[in-house]
Amino acid sequence: ERTVIDEASQIIQRLNEDGYRAYYVGGAVRDELLDRPSSDIDITTSAKPNEICLLFPRAHQMNTEHQTVLVRSGGYSIEVTTERGDSLVADLSHRDFTINAMAKSADGKLIDPLNGQKDLQQKVIRSVHPDKRILEDPLRMLRAIRFVSELNFQLDKQLLNAIKQHAYLLEQVAQERVIQEWEKLLKGAFVQQAFQFLKRSTLYRFFPGYPLSENEITKLLMMPVIDREASSAFRWVLFYVWIGRETDESVGRLLLSNELKRQIKNRLRMFRHRKDKNIDDWMLYQYGLETTRDVEHIRHLMGLEHEQHADVEKRFDALPIKSRKDLCVTGVDLMTARQKSAGPWIKEELESLEKQVINREVGHSKQDLLMWLERKGHNEE
Ligand code: ATP
Ligand code: MG
Repeated sequence: ERTVIDEASQIIQRLNEDGYRAYYVGGAVRDELLDRPSSDIDITTSAKPNEICLLFPRAHQMNTEHQTVLVRSGGYSIEVTTERGDSLVADLSHRDFTINAMAKSADGKLIDPLNGQKDLQQKVIRSVHPDKRILEDPLRMLRAIRFVSELNFQLDKQLLNAIKQHAYLLEQVAQERVIQEWEKLLKGAFVQQAFQFLKRSTLYRFFPGYPLSENEITKLLMMPVIDREASSAFRWVLFYVWIGRETDESVGRLLLSNELKRQIKNRLRMFRHRKDKNIDDWMLYQYGLETTRDVEHIRHLMGLEHEQHADVEKRFDALPIKSRKDLCVTGVDLMTARQKSAGPWIKEELESLEKQVINREVGHSKQDLLMWLERKGHNEE
């Protein structure tokens, strides 16, 4: 099977054959030297976007400020970007950090004019002219700390000082970009180290939505590291619960997808609900297995009394229904039984049926449920 590296090297060779410079660049080169898997591969080339498109029929230009063409090849998408400046070295010196400013040719030669390899070995995130770099794009401040979180590197002293001085400029950056870096930061295996640098650099004050307080960033220094498989929702909920912000408000202001926000809010809601209550079947049913598991896991991380995964799962398996669509009575059945037209009453009635079934007060059959409804109707009259 062809790997993304095979596809990328084919693209580079094709560009070279036509007389263009083309190199692997950035994260892919860095990650290979670190012997760590790379999330994507970038290629830099002297070819212009329209020239790249001519060479690769399955390419399309991306709508960004950079001159990037997405080349589809063997099931992978590879970003091919025209060099910034008029040479490879000029392109490399426009990049954010020395460790991200290395290129590699098709035949494996490393091009490293800024000594990125040395910084990799010494484990430092460094910029040449950090002030200038930050003024060009203040997001680089957060990117630096995101790499700390992923790589367990130190921030070079000059870079740290420059971030301290310019931290407030992060507010000028589009929240989409800021949030993306935060998501990666929270996933890092060395997130506590990153929180240390957020605190030392004062960058934590410019967290999107509601800024973090000094007290909150101090709490975060002790936030446990969670394994890579954990979901984004889980990470955000742990983050918020850890600093004691359990309301939906702060989440509402973040530019996350609606689905992700829904998942986060559900977990926060259950976390609040669960505070002074054990999990009963109705709670388990309402929030579902995934949410309950996550909430119990978070309670565990916080040193609170909690239920074991296996027990939660067993209890969920034993529920007579798992969701409303398992209910053997539908809205239409209700309208027929009640001789009433559709309205918000249906939702209420269905919920009361669900509750009866979950609490095993009525058997889960259409007949039992309709009989129960009839009796309830009489009592209400
Ligand atoms: P990963 O993909 O693992 O998150 P990466 O280093 O590949 O890390 P990307 O955001 O994919 O990061 O960017 C690819 C490369 O583009 C970087 O390695 C860097 O050389 C350059 N780059 C990205 N963003 C910036 C920026 N804001 N300023 C300067 N250079 C940047
Ligand atoms: Mg990348």
